[in-house]
Amino acid sequence: MNLVDVNTLFSTEDKCRELLVRLRFPEGPRCLRCNMPVVELETEKQLFYCKDCDYQFSITAGTVFNDSHLPLTKWFMATLLLCEAKKGMSACQIQRTLGIGSYKTAWYLCHRIRHAMAQTDKPMMDGKVEMDTTYVGGVNRGKGISARVENKEVVLGIRKRNGDLRFFHTKDAKSGTMAQYIRENISEDVEIMFTDDFYANTVAMKKAGINNHKTIIHSKGQYVNGDIHTNTVESAFSLLKRGIMGTWHRLSAKHLAAYLEEMEFRFNRRNRSDLFLDTLRHMVTASALTFEKLTA
Ligand SMILES: [Zn+2]
Repeated sequence: MNLVDVNTLFSTEDKCRELLVRLRFPEGPRCLRCNMPVVELETEKQLFYCKDCDYQFSITAGTVFNDSHLPLTKWFMATLLLCEAKKGMSACQIQRTLGIGSYKTAWYLCHRIRHAMAQTDKPMMDGKVEMDTTYVGGVNRGKGISARVENKEVVLGIRKRNGDLRFFHTKDAKSGTMAQYIRENISEDVEIMFTDDFYANTVAMKKAGINNHKTIIHSKGQYVNGDIHTNTVESAFSLLKRGIMGTWHRLSAKHLAAYLEEMEFRFNRRNRSDLFLDTLRHMVTASALTFEKLTA
């Protein structure tokens, strides 16, 4: 699906709506309250009506589209743009490209799409798994390690070889913190874990009860040793960093986790031909995100 397809297939509010109905209710529309089948009212607002509990609702009720004044056609185009841009797209760019009235509206729109992208299953990972941390944001002042990590946010990356990626915004890169993420994401019978020789990694593995752990000696300039390397998680980090530098100029620590979810969602679906539809499916099944909650 490209922008031309989206403009052709979903050129009107009705066509967009029809797709959302199919994605939200693959077995036919049902009441949001009592789950009984509902009928569509012949009104301008195109509401569904439940005669069992006397409830009326629209197809976007209770979803991320809730209460939006933007036309669905613009929502669809924004979704396609966010799905297809490997490094993400800034709210500013979305505002200009789609002719959205204000930056605030575009920013809120992007965050609602991101909120839907965050609603994914995260099964425990097994097989060969790489783990690494990186620092993002902040400004480099002076030289050396402290300049590289001061005022910066820690991102933990975990990636299964030939498989899924996970990004987490963590409070620090200490062994206890990492051990917690390992326990929550890595299956006990993982085949092998690869990290660099940063000491906290080894301690974290011990704390999390992972015995099969191999390190690549970055401190001695070693980057690949046979099967031992962290190159696939590092390539995901470099994509993330290019996204942060190139497109998200106003990224704040507060919203970093949401951007990481977006990056992860897109990355893990990069070979799927139904990426656009899958994103819309998430958007029409995820809960609403109010502006108050987003900015609280
Ligand atoms: Zn009902």
